[in-house]
Amino acid sequence: MNYLEVAVTAPLAHTLTYAAPEPCPTSLTPGLRLLVPLGSRLVTGYLFGPAQTPPNKQKIKPIADILDPWPFFDAEMVPFFRWIAEYYLHPIGEVVKEALPAGITTKSGHRITLTEQGEKSLTAWDGKQPPPAWFDELIRKKQLSPAAYRRIRVNRERTLLSKWHEQDYLTIHHELTGQSIKPKTEVCILPQTSSPLELEDADLLSSEKKTLNILHELNEATGQQAIPRRDITKKYSGAGKALKSLAARGVLSLVEKRVFRDPFGEPPVHFPKPAKLSEEQDKALAEIIPALHTQQYNPFLLHGITGSGKTEVYLRAAEKALTLKQSVLVLVPEIALATQLEGHFYSRFGDQIALLHSGLSKGERLDQWHRVATGEATIVIGARSAIFAPIKDPGLIIVDEEHDPAYKQEDGLRYQARDLAVLRASQAGCVVLLGSATPSITSSYHAQQGKYTLLNMTRRIADRDLPVVEIVNLQKTKTVSGRPPLFSPELTSAIRQTHSQGNQSLIFLNRRGYASTVLCRQCGKTVQCQHCHVAMTQHQTKNQLLCHYCGFTQQKDILCPSCNGPDLMGIGFGTERVEAELKNIVPNANIARLDRDTGANRKRFLEILKAMRNKEIDILVGTQMITKGHHFPDVTLVGVVWADAGMGMPDFRAGERTFQLLTQVTGRAGRGDSPGRVIIQTHQPDHYSVITAQSHAYGDLYNQELALRQGLGYPPMSRLVNLLLEGKDEELTRKTALLLAGMLQKILPSQNDITVLGPAPAPLSRLRGSFRQQLMLKGSSSATLHTVCRKLLNEIPSHIRSGRIKLTVDVDPENML
Ligand code: ADP
Ligand code: ZN
Repeated sequence: MNYLEVAVTAPLAHTLTYAAPEPCPTSLTPGLRLLVPLGSRLVTGYLFGPAQTPPNKQKIKPIADILDPWPFFDAEMVPFFRWIAEYYLHPIGEVVKEALPAGITTKSGHRITLTEQGEKSLTAWDGKQPPPAWFDELIRKKQLSPAAYRRIRVNRERTLLSKWHEQDYLTIHHELTGQSIKPKTEVCILPQTSSPLELEDADLLSSEKKTLNILHELNEATGQQAIPRRDITKKYSGAGKALKSLAARGVLSLVEKRVFRDPFGEPPVHFPKPAKLSEEQDKALAEIIPALHTQQYNPFLLHGITGSGKTEVYLRAAEKALTLKQSVLVLVPEIALATQLEGHFYSRFGDQIALLHSGLSKGERLDQWHRVATGEATIVIGARSAIFAPIKDPGLIIVDEEHDPAYKQEDGLRYQARDLAVLRASQAGCVVLLGSATPSITSSYHAQQGKYTLLNMTRRIADRDLPVVEIVNLQKTKTVSGRPPLFSPELTSAIRQTHSQGNQSLIFLNRRGYASTVLCRQCGKTVQCQHCHVAMTQHQTKNQLLCHYCGFTQQKDILCPSCNGPDLMGIGFGTERVEAELKNIVPNANIARLDRDTGANRKRFLEILKAMRNKEIDILVGTQMITKGHHFPDVTLVGVVWADAGMGMPDFRAGERTFQLLTQVTGRAGRGDSPGRVIIQTHQPDHYSVITAQSHAYGDLYNQELALRQGLGYPPMSRLVNLLLEGKDEELTRKTALLLAGMLQKILPSQNDITVLGPAPAPLSRLRGSFRQQLMLKGSSSATLHTVCRKLLNEIPSHIRSGRIKLTVDVDPENML
């Protein structure tokens, strides 16, 4: 390798060429981070591989340093990164940066050590100026640490060190500094293989007997041999001492071992493998397994209703892939919600799994990444960003809840992890399995077009019924002082009844806060955020008005900003108010609330879920956070306070999203032995999202949505690219948007079907103090759209380049606000 292809962390669409050091170290493999000169700076770069000999050889600069001891990805990932950069119109180096685990700071440095000759020759500083501090240190300690070396910023002094190096006065060693890889280990108890666990009872102290009993119970319950010491001492405080003496007797041994804990910090629940598959599970697997054998790109859409046993299909497919020596990647929308799935995979596959989630420390995350990169872990489970995990020989990529909006990253590199899963599978030549009870319209459309093989599972395991869904028309409920009450008589009595029967309820409203708007009684204006063009929401517990978009807060008892009137009144409602009113309906129930106010703190979030699992909560109120993936067998009632919350959003996916939310939350009911009941309150009982959710009629929803999208020319019938412009100067923002629109008209090829919508103020026309304009490009060919956008980006005006206006390119946008 004389020349290297390097993607640098700078806003450049293409990679750059650098010269390799001479002689080139054999360890210089793709996936390493390098330090490379760019202009007058040194920046991080990612080594893609050898580059062709460039025509202008003398201009090629050598790399400055190699930063890692082992590569973060291998050469097979390079085409994947290239494609992403091209498709999402994003700088290639930034794509790689985004892909690697956040916060890695492993870096190397140079240790300088005096040689014998150096000790003899370098006794005194012979310069005119007084010697720098590092010189004394070098003489005194006979070496300079990497940190001390890094502090030398004077070029002349560095040159001097290089000269001494050439004269063999000193050696320069490359070594690692910074973050170390920290495996997550704990002391675990293992039975000693040479001696049986059972001693004669009489030989044992009572504390030892008790400890062994607990150990035995835990072995049974978890199905694991190695039990973390912490799990035993938690149950019996005398166990620590007893374990020591048992180890001394050779009954068991204590070893540091990598352990698995669920996000609750608990040992995982053991899920036994079901003896028999359902007919539908069998049928689905009969398609997937032969596809695994082909080792070719094979995309599947598994449409299985809630409770139909999709997880077991994932597990069996994964099992097969492993026997074929393939590795498996499992994506989940949110790792904290994926406890069940992790537990299942851990029960089946144990130590082979690596988890990539936000609850890990940086060192632990690096450790997990390393296990994947070296092939030690063959199953990776993680959220969105795990799509970049450096798995070896992928055979199966699973995307659970493929419809979930959380797969779309909404800042920086705006990728859609589900789409990337399909792409990665097609590049790697493997199976990709998208699973959902409510597939996205786009994925269903691909299935209909024959791009994906559709697998249907239409019945719940053990032939459990889907819950009965009742609709309450809020237009017809009796009003209380002119407004319909939050809880209709039907929902009120259902909540009371469920509580008196000792069952749990979920009450869903996709809006947090107490009152959604605050109105002045004197002038009739609503209170708006000072930084955004949106209404402030009233939050009772904190006694505040809060902007849900930028977090700006004000005291609740302010005067009206428009007329100084003293009388502000909250209208509309959110989860906080729902919680407050529930306390009146069932005063003796334990009520908890899960939304971004209570669940933003991860610990608190997990505590609430755990309390729900342990039945310490009778009624859980929440936003879409409570709809996802939970399996609470004692929930028999699901109440939807107001199905209309998202229906009026300026987003062509509003109907699809409403259906998905209603169906998912409905699916939380009746998962145990008792049947479930669902009550949906709405002002629009005839809305197709409500009707289809009520009758569990995905097919009808799909057909209606598709007809709508066809009429409007929206995806999946077309492709969109959104260009968002944001600036503090309203006029400049508007003018720049107009300018881009004008440029687009010139760039557009004469024969094209691209429509440019706008420029127009974005639905959130002012956010965090910036004015926002958008230009939406719509066309049938993504290739043409990309060519046009690429040309535009090559000619962007100077106020964008100077940073006065921020331009965001969102390919396949999902959030239209
Ligand atoms: P989904 O993800 O489709 O909503 P799950 O995978 O959570 O459904 O399965 C629902 C329940 O059925 C789980 O408790 C699971 O352990 C159980 N289950 C799945 N397959 C079988 C089977 N073949 N036999 C018995 N129980 C099963
Ligand atoms: Zn705001």
